[in-house]
Amino acid sequence: VRTTTTTVAFRAELDRARAAGRSVGLVPTMGALHDGHASLVERAAQECDEVAVTIFVNPLQFAPTEDLAAYPRDPDGDARRSAEAGATVLFTPDEDEMYPDGRDGVLTSVSVEALAGVMEGASRPDHFAGVCTVVAKLFNLAGPCRAYFGEKDFQQLAVIRRMVGDLSFPVEVVGCPTVREPDGLAMSSRNRYLTDEERRAAPVLVGALRAGAAAYVGGCTDPGSIRRTMADVVEASPVGTLDYVEVVDAATLRPVGVVGPGCRLFGAVRFGRARLIDNIPVDDTVDDSAPDDGDVGGASP
Ligand code: AMP
Repeated sequence: VRTTTTTVAFRAELDRARAAGRSVGLVPTMGALHDGHASLVERAAQECDEVAVTIFVNPLQFAPTEDLAAYPRDPDGDARRSAEAGATVLFTPDEDEMYPDGRDGVLTSVSVEALAGVMEGASRPDHFAGVCTVVAKLFNLAGPCRAYFGEKDFQQLAVIRRMVGDLSFPVEVVGCPTVREPDGLAMSSRNRYLTDEERRAAPVLVGALRAGAAAYVGGCTDPGSIRRTMADVVEASPVGTLDYVEVVDAATLRPVGVVGPGCRLFGAVRFGRARLIDNIPVDDTVDDSAPDDGDVGGASP
């Protein structure tokens, strides 16, 4: 793996690759890499000649009250995991390199209003503007490529797809299925915050989503009832505080009057220091022992 830490070197590395006729895959991350991240890198390695993994804990997407300072960092582990999964280029800039005038000196913001105001955007008001701004910057540095994002952050994937379409970035966005622990918990860097007791309780989030899916598959199409079913599961757990559960149209992320096949279930639950999110298709009732293929198929976790 060739490690780059400056924007100039990173851009030059990928420009050189394309000039040699090599296709480029890009996997943006905030590090503390786990098997979910590795699945994106592996997929990129199957489909592209060069695979660039970027590792940057982006301050613009954290609110002042959030976990920026505490966010897990593991540079050595990340380098090893990236290489094992097939990365050929690492980009590990520090904050001064990405934002030379400081984070408050970034005066440009990219926002995708209609998709970014609900769910995660409602709970975290400036979050998606921060995400879009750094991803736009990474896309501009990386140049024409395929960029791999997880369905774990489905709303983020939708927002980035729309940004790429609206602004004509020369990037093909590839969505990849959520990788889960054997008990169903979606892998997340933030799972490291969980105490043993919280870790045991955390699968209640995907359990709630699957209860919503089971209700739909059982014939319920009323969004309020499906939301209630999901909320009841979380509220029955002595550990974990419900932030939201939603059933929305997967394309628009808007509420629906009648739940149908194009819908998706979303939830966020707080476990102590960790705020965990997850989502599944409305007809996904797989049990905990089966892998979740999301709705794109292809790469197996
Ligand atoms: P993060 O480091 O949390 O910003 O995530 C970097 C990328 O990895 C994003 O595109 C995430 O959606 C993706 N990702 C995170 N967790 C998972 C997972 N469990 N399965 C698949 N992709 C994931």
